[in-house]
Amino acid sequence: MTIPTTNFDIAIVGGGVAGLTAALYAAQAGKRTILIEKQERLGGRAMTNKKQGHYFNLGGHALFHGDALATFRDLKLSLKGGKPAIEAHGLWKGQISTMPVGVKSLLTTSLLTVKGKMEFAKWFTKLGKIQTDNYNHLSVREWVEGNVNDPMARHILYSLIRSSTYVMAPDLQAAGPVIQQLQRALNGVMYMDRGWASIIEEMRQRAAALGVQFIAKQKVVAIEHQEGRVQQIRCEDGTVIEANNVIAAIPPAAAYQLVPQAEATALRIWKEQAIEMTTATLDVALRKVPQQKINIVYGIDQTVFLSNHSQAAHLSDEGAQVISVIKYQGKEKDADQDLRDLEQLLDTVHPGWRNELAAKQFLPNMTVSHDFVHLQRQSKPGPVVPEITGLYVAGEWVSHGEMLVDAATASAKRAVAHILSHTETENKVIHEHRSIV
Ligand SMILES: Cc1cc2nc3c(=O)[nH]c(=O)nc-3n(C[C@H](O)[C@H](O)[C@H](O)COP(=O)(O)OP(=O)(O)OC[C@H]3O[C@@H](n4cnc5c(N)ncnc54)[C@H](O)[C@@H]3O)c2cc1C
Repeated sequence: MTIPTTNFDIAIVGGGVAGLTAALYAAQAGKRTILIEKQERLGGRAMTNKKQGHYFNLGGHALFHGDALATFRDLKLSLKGGKPAIEAHGLWKGQISTMPVGVKSLLTTSLLTVKGKMEFAKWFTKLGKIQTDNYNHLSVREWVEGNVNDPMARHILYSLIRSSTYVMAPDLQAAGPVIQQLQRALNGVMYMDRGWASIIEEMRQRAAALGVQFIAKQKVVAIEHQEGRVQQIRCEDGTVIEANNVIAAIPPAAAYQLVPQAEATALRIWKEQAIEMTTATLDVALRKVPQQKINIVYGIDQTVFLSNHSQAAHLSDEGAQVISVIKYQGKEKDADQDLRDLEQLLDTVHPGWRNELAAKQFLPNMTVSHDFVHLQRQSKPGPVVPEITGLYVAGEWVSHGEMLVDAATASAKRAVAHILSHTETENKVIHEHRSIV
């Protein structure tokens, strides 16, 4: 492979949202930047598959009012899409009822008793004002059970937490970031026209216009270092790319594998402390939706969630409605059972949906997050790998409190900011040295 420039300021491994964000901020700052992605398409888990004119997201679905939205706005991306209505339903003992997600629904829901409603209302009113930092060392379970007594109100709260964080680990998950995520969820989310691939394509075009070089379909097999400093990237076909800084925007286990002697670095701790969260997802494009009034369903006694994305975004060139159904998985995974559970939810909400099916995508085991902020973490990952100057990590698992794609963008910006401030310091030292001489 021929690479026009051999020595880059910044080489980025991985072309998901984190890698692309890093590439854009690096190039905006005038850095010679290259991004290497092993797959043919950029986007990673933010890809969208187009099937018979219908757009199915691979991973990312809802854009919260967090770092990613702020970053995309800062990058002046067009962000075409819409906000789904907040009205929702809850699934409890096979029945669909109004989910308390606002004042009106709290008054009308049959899920809670009067006492439960009062308690839920009290908690709901307080939610927006909670100083989340005070809860970083408390588990979600300790926080929920210390604040809410009514058993049904607790079930509902756990269901809201699961659906806004994609994490099912109440005894391990730190409450602070979760409360922050619930506060964000209160502001609503955004679904993207033509899926998240539209964001990726715009990021790619912007980055290319700023001079970022892309290499796709090329797996990085090593990030080499010498005397405590990063030197170069080695690709599967033997290509070597020299770079002063490398951002590994890939999962923790992959970063660990690529770096020689990684066992002597923080990469080992970050890999070992990581707790993965996965889902099974079924997306269906329906020519007609049997039950027009039900768009969002939270499983309360089942770990499932349904959302009609077409209520807010253009996801079918054929006029169909695209509905996403998710099952949050624990340690036990059974693809056949998971599919049955997802189809059963569709049967309950949209009886007869099979007759309207235009296309579908079933993904039995998707990693939503390689890690999240939990109480067993020994060390906060990134942005630097302290033992190797010039080596950085980014990605959804490099969270300093953010979640999901917000962690991907925030960690990428932290890595680039560190490189820029480091370069400034180095330049200053050189300048001062020259002045003295
Ligand atoms: C089912 C599902 C639903 C989700 N829903 C939401 C949601 O509603 N809201 C939200 O905010 N987030 C959601 N997410 C999470 C979101 O998709 C991710 O947080 C985000 O896309 C992660 O981006 P990333 O860049 O960190 O990682 P990735 O997208 O995984 O990117 C890493 C990239 O690195 C590449 N790579 C790996 N190893 C190498 C190598 N050796 N050489 C070269 N390239 C390599 C991979 O091919 C990949 O493209 C969801 C995820 C899933 C799976």
